[in-house]
Amino acid sequence: MSDTLKLGSATAAVGDRATGWLRATGLPTGGEERLPVILFNGGEGPTAWVTATVHGDEVVGLAVAQELAGLDPETVTGRLVVVPTLNPAGLRRRERVSYYDDEDPNRKFPDPFSDRTAPLSTQERVAEQVYEAFTETVRADLLLDLHTAGAGAVPFTIRDRVLYGKTRTEDDARLLAGETAALADAVNLPVVTEYPADQYTDRTLHRSTAGAALNGAGLPALTLELGEADHIRPDHRAAGLAAVCRGLAAADVLRAVPDGVAAADPGVDAPVDYPVRRFEGPRAKAAGVVRHRVEPGDRVESGQPVAAVTSPHGEVIETVTSDRDGYVLAHREGALAYENQPVCSMAVRDEGALVAQREQ
Ligand SMILES: [Zn+2]
Repeated sequence: MSDTLKLGSATAAVGDRATGWLRATGLPTGGEERLPVILFNGGEGPTAWVTATVHGDEVVGLAVAQELAGLDPETVTGRLVVVPTLNPAGLRRRERVSYYDDEDPNRKFPDPFSDRTAPLSTQERVAEQVYEAFTETVRADLLLDLHTAGAGAVPFTIRDRVLYGKTRTEDDARLLAGETAALADAVNLPVVTEYPADQYTDRTLHRSTAGAALNGAGLPALTLELGEADHIRPDHRAAGLAAVCRGLAAADVLRAVPDGVAAADPGVDAPVDYPVRRFEGPRAKAAGVVRHRVEPGDRVESGQPVAAVTSPHGEVIETVTSDRDGYVLAHREGALAYENQPVCSMAVRDEGALVAQREQ
């Protein structure tokens, strides 16, 4: 039947839910690396993909995906593909990267507008198959990719900048940025725009899962940062599940946010009311033990001390101050800094354009 939804070994008839596996790559010790998939087939509606744990230590999204798997199929009006982990190798070792070549899988998705001819790494081949799955096999209308950010991180949504030029017209980029902004509004976590456009491709963020979906495939796509790595905090899991369900309901993939999901949502408010973007810093000039003066979620004003860099004996070597307004997203993992390392990540006031010309 043409309405049947199929991906990998999973097949869901209309009205049904199915689980299965999508082959990723062969393993040298025999067998295969497989990605778990959960399909909900509500019929003819829009198709959403929710992917998680492409960084193997970022397990809150894995728990959110498991909760989504437990939804009543009756709630799903569109088609929903859930992939609880895009990086089983990293998950197995509780590490961000996969171990095929120790690469960051969230920087290895295809760039369909690149002229590159170099052979693909194993991780790039895995990412290419996932990209083909959400652009061709079960074509997504939107994608949400679930992550976590540094130590003690507060939940937020990253909205990527949309590039035009080689890839698409400026008008098309504005349309896509508008659709993505509407999705971020529906998700209703504090929105943080990605790094400035001139850093975006340098940092290979157009080859992240959401970056490739948005800037490669032209789909509304967001990265949801659901607290801190390594640990499933119940409030962050509940906030993340509610945020994903709000996005899916706004896209007509879910009939509504289930009552129990809405009731369990602690809600996350943005500490500032102006537009912000991601910022790695401020940075310590000196090496030392970092003693933070501000916590994730705290507002920071330009000139405010955010940390002391200290000797092991406790003497203050340097006071690190912020030169920007914004708020703290997370502390850097581990209470130390080498020279010029950031002591935290922040959301700082953003005046940059949401759409930008891609460098030729
Ligand atoms: Zn991540």
